[in-house]
Amino acid sequence: MKIAIIGAGFGALAVAYDLSKDKNNSIEIIDPNDSAGGLAAGFKEDGWDWTLEEHYHHVFDTDKAFKQFLSELELREQLVYKKAKSSTLYNGKIWQIDTPWTLLKFKEISFLSRLRTGAVLAFLKILPNGVILEKFKASQFLILTMGKESWKVIWEPLFVSKFGRFKDQINLSWFWARVNPRTAALGYFEGGFRNLADLIVGKLEKMGVKFNFFHKVEKINKIEDKFILSLIDGAGKKFSKEYDLVISTLSSPIFSKLIDLPELKQDKMLGLGAMTMLLRLKKKILQDGTYWLNINEKNWPFVAMVEHDNLVSNKHYNGESLVYLGRYLEASDIEYQKSTEQLLADYRPYLKKLDQDFDQNLIEAKVFKAPFAQPISFINQSQYLPKFNTSIKNLYWVSMQHVYPFDRGINHAVSSARKLAKHVRMETSAS
Ligand SMILES: Cc1cc2nc3c(=O)[nH]c(=O)nc-3n(C[C@H](O)[C@H](O)[C@H](O)COP(=O)(O)OP(=O)(O)OC[C@H]3O[C@@H](n4cnc5c(N)ncnc54)[C@H](O)[C@@H]3O)c2cc1C
Repeated sequence: MKIAIIGAGFGALAVAYDLSKDKNNSIEIIDPNDSAGGLAAGFKEDGWDWTLEEHYHHVFDTDKAFKQFLSELELREQLVYKKAKSSTLYNGKIWQIDTPWTLLKFKEISFLSRLRTGAVLAFLKILPNGVILEKFKASQFLILTMGKESWKVIWEPLFVSKFGRFKDQINLSWFWARVNPRTAALGYFEGGFRNLADLIVGKLEKMGVKFNFFHKVEKINKIEDKFILSLIDGAGKKFSKEYDLVISTLSSPIFSKLIDLPELKQDKMLGLGAMTMLLRLKKKILQDGTYWLNINEKNWPFVAMVEHDNLVSNKHYNGESLVYLGRYLEASDIEYQKSTEQLLADYRPYLKKLDQDFDQNLIEAKVFKAPFAQPISFINQSQYLPKFNTSIKNLYWVSMQHVYPFDRGINHAVSSARKLAKHVRMETSAS
């Protein structure tokens, strides 16, 4: 069977790995980028030994599907875990808040609020399945259980920055999924996740999978029992190719440009885009060892600062310090259209509060944008979840929108993709 997989993210790599075990399948992966990895894609600057992701990436120790996938690929040894420090910037001060003990020391809220917050987090940590919480609004639940003070100081800034105008519509399952799998140790793949993607591509090629990088799918048509994909290559040349079965790994707004399907038009399948600025610096901004800094200050233009070299040694990046500034917003937002120069001008006064010598310290700023990067989990979202099957026979779909109650993650992309591969194998062997 001739199979096309649209997209070369980690989901696509996992599907291809499982389906290529069947020697009757001939599999092609199509992606407009020059390499695999999708949202976890990376690049390498001159003088660096390791690649670096465009958007900050790490995995948790609880990411079982990802670890299992790496074990099967004989790459598990290169996934290295290290304890990472998480802190919060509030009222001009950096507070480490990543354990019950450090939470108890967070004096910006009353001791009772700290106790209530800790108790609710402990409950969510031990609750094995958070989907049952989807009928509650996270904001209401957190105010009721942790108290108004905790909500205002710790959680509301997170919801505002992650979800903007949707902040009061997010369900409690999303919050559970954010708290429950987190581990103190974070994993990073030696050489970067781009290196991992390249290694998997090499292994898949040996298994017979063909990669069409610099190729974008523009339209999907079905004529009788064949799919005709309209493609455009990097040089702008248009042509079409025929397949028996197609698997899309695109999120609904992108997938819906390729084919008109009712299931892609659900108004409960919304998401926000991500805009990440990467700063290449001569020295660290977060000198206290913090890897992840939540920005809980009012009106700061970015919501998280991630000091990559507080997780991974800067010896792999020619001694440079690498700092990400994360932000989520709708792709239609005027802010999302801003250039690197405009964004740097906006961010500079805030960066100078953390590093007075910021201008002398800066080597380069880069901005990476992803129009769909954060699905929104509404009340009772499980009723609106997309299925693997589309309304067209032999056109399958797996994406970030399939991994609920989790909102995204390489681990979940791999896990859902492997479930899809099993489902496709079952359906195609039965027909
Ligand atoms: C800011 C940010 C931070 C993140 N941090 C983490 C983290 O720390 N840990 C973690 O595990 N996950 C993280 N993620 C999420 C993680 O990157 C994704 O969940 C995961 O990579 C999704 O993989 P995927 O294969 O489902 O989709 P994608 O990676 O989105 O892959 C889809 C692919 O489709 C391709 N494509 C698009 N249009 C077309 C077309 N017309 N024709 C052909 N191909 C097309 C794209 O180029 C892309 O390669 C983060 C994401 C973002 C945005």
